[in-house]
Amino acid sequence: MGQTVRTTKLLLDLSKREQGGANRDKRRYLEETVAMLDAARCFYLDFLLAHPQILMERVEVISKQTAEVSQRLISADKVLTWAEFQTLATDAHPAPLPQWNFSKAFPDFPNRYRRSVIKDCIGKARGYLTTLRTWQHAGKQKGKPAVPTAANHPTLYAGTYTLELDSLDLRKSFVRLKVYSGSQWVWVHYPTRYNRYFEVRRGEEGWEQESPKLILGKQTAAIHFVQSKTITATKIVESKRDPDLVTVAVDLNVKQLAVITVRQHGTIIQTRFVSDHGLDQHRYRHLKRVAKKQWQAGKPIKGERSNQQLWRHIRRQNTDVAHKTARAIVEVCEQYRGCVLLFERLRVIKAKGGSKSRRLNRKQANQLKGKINQLAKEKAYASGVVSIEVNPHGTSQYCARCGAKGLRFSLVAGQRVTAKGGKLFVCSHCSYECHADFNASCNVHHSFFREFHWQPRIQRSG
Ligand SMILES: [Zn+2]
Repeated sequence: MGQTVRTTKLLLDLSKREQGGANRDKRRYLEETVAMLDAARCFYLDFLLAHPQILMERVEVISKQTAEVSQRLISADKVLTWAEFQTLATDAHPAPLPQWNFSKAFPDFPNRYRRSVIKDCIGKARGYLTTLRTWQHAGKQKGKPAVPTAANHPTLYAGTYTLELDSLDLRKSFVRLKVYSGSQWVWVHYPTRYNRYFEVRRGEEGWEQESPKLILGKQTAAIHFVQSKTITATKIVESKRDPDLVTVAVDLNVKQLAVITVRQHGTIIQTRFVSDHGLDQHRYRHLKRVAKKQWQAGKPIKGERSNQQLWRHIRRQNTDVAHKTARAIVEVCEQYRGCVLLFERLRVIKAKGGSKSRRLNRKQANQLKGKINQLAKEKAYASGVVSIEVNPHGTSQYCARCGAKGLRFSLVAGQRVTAKGGKLFVCSHCSYECHADFNASCNVHHSFFREFHWQPRIQRSG
């Protein structure tokens, strides 16, 4: 049993008014709101850290099932109630602590926002106190934990926002947010860049809605809708005993981004190549431009970024391709219930030798590999597939059929050219020939089951 979380973004449309976006005040309101909540968080963080004994109080809990008495940390809800009682002026309790009077410092502060702020602070303060205590116990000089900062993204509990989605006309969808205008709290409508994809994700079965967050960037504003899902998956050790187990192996490369092979009962039953559709070459050309510009401009100025748009373009392309490739891997996994996803432990191609643009491109390719690996694991887990990393030793050098050492070669104008990075593979023992990446992908299965002599055995002690 495990849990996984995912986020779907809904962008607020804050572009220029002539282009149909919100007016400038709306942007300012959001900034004011974030600043106001940060100030409130600062207040409660100071308050809670001034009362550590209550924050870390241990209480006796009686179990309903076994009637056993155990000690546990006081619940966050109880601390919240206590903090509100101490700092708020109510009819029943008109005089809170004079130096901690929240009602006076923040008049008309919405309840829901206040609670989200206090909850956030309890988490932050507790985390800090715990790390501080372990640091003190360790008796080290270095690494003293820093006091947490108050800044955070506002959490939108029910009552501080409403989604108004007009399903007939997708262009007319709004989010109503409670924001601070600089003098008072008001409800304001914000147009959104709503899309069908968002609706599909929100309505998907098995995912539970959590409180969304307002993320205010320098240029953009978005509401991040968080969803969580409980996953039930069998452990790898148990799966490995199953004779009908299906294994899905992935070999990540530069040109063929992923070569996916599926194996059951010792035979490969499905293969899928995910090509980069010329991305490597495309990126290389951009990086050539970057390298040339860097050379022309000379020494870079510290703290200043150059070629920002170009880098953004490269980054976006990489992310997009990574998501698509990861999706392709998971699509294969979803066809086989209870399968295990196998990856090689990532090898980094050293970015040395060749031109500067080539080195830059190698770095990018390495990052892309890492990204695909990470995304595929996350996406696979969300659909109940567990992944494992296997030892990459020798997967691209040995024959997947007989286990003997082979050679890499390419066909240049009909002639065989033996080269280290050759596209094809030939076995010197059984003369088996195939695509080199396919061979490597098949070897990942062997590595998982440790079937060949060149694969390292489990080390026995003594
Ligand atoms: Zn062979």
